[in-house]
Amino acid sequence: MAESIYKIISREEHAKDSIVTIGNVRIGGNNPPVIIAGPCSVESRRQMLETALGVKEAGAQMLRGCVYKPRTSPYTFQGLGRKGLPYLQDASEVTGLPSVSEAMTPRQAFLIAQSAEVIQIGSRNGLNYDLITAAARTAAKFGKTLLLKRQTGATIDELLGAGEYAALQFVRREQEPRILLCLRGTKMGVQQKNYRNNPDYEDIPELKAKTHLPVIFDPSHAGGSREYILPLSIAALAFGADGLMIETHCNPAKAWTDAQQQITPKELQEIIAEVNGFISDRKGR
Ligand code: PEP
Ligand code: MN
Repeated sequence: MAESIYKIISREEHAKDSIVTIGNVRIGGNNPPVIIAGPCSVESRRQMLETALGVKEAGAQMLRGCVYKPRTSPYTFQGLGRKGLPYLQDASEVTGLPSVSEAMTPRQAFLIAQSAEVIQIGSRNGLNYDLITAAARTAAKFGKTLLLKRQTGATIDELLGAGEYAALQFVRREQEPRILLCLRGTKMGVQQKNYRNNPDYEDIPELKAKTHLPVIFDPSHAGGSREYILPLSIAALAFGADGLMIETHCNPAKAWTDAQQQITPKELQEIIAEVNGFISDRKGR
């Protein structure tokens, strides 16, 4: 019989949903969907703090902010680098929101593990097995979590294979895998007009049938435009997402990256109110 691509993270291995605990946030199973919000890029101490205070007030449970940016053009802002990590860390400490930040190299994963709770592997590296292994090894060593995004052309089984590489590193340390899988739209199929990527929330049920790991949806990079954030968020929750990661900025029009898809903390608050309404309606039924 052919070996299966993934074992540790498969439903067959572990029928119950796994719960990933980050500080006082619990993700997966019957927990309410987690909202991770914050800017695409850390730009300054002030921008990070103001945004963090705003997303906390809006009702987010976790903070995002990247200092290492995988940009399509080498001529655009590439992130503040190491200098930005204290800004993220301070904003996280002041608000009490655990934070997420992307690593593109093993060294960056190590640095992020010293300042943030979650190491993100972005879509461009979603099938970079050496990086995923190194980042997961670092996450396991320092008690951190890995957020693994779907590579833009990866099938569900390929995403799960990448997740298995990460899971092995937690198991090596006799730990439950602290891994969040994240869908963010694909480049597969016919490009859907107006969307930055083809929204892939429809894949959530298949993913959740195959793995016990929590699944997060990122409507910002799927839609690429602020008017899609609300409908994509509700759709993803309807399809079973365990959380949402929403790019939010204190002044989106002036954002250094992804300005067209970032929303204000006030808009985030309105989205969270809609999300909560949707969740309680569904429970009431
Ligand atoms: C991000 O979340 O900052 C990001 C770059 O997203 P993606 O890897 O999904 O493009
Ligand atoms: Mn972005």
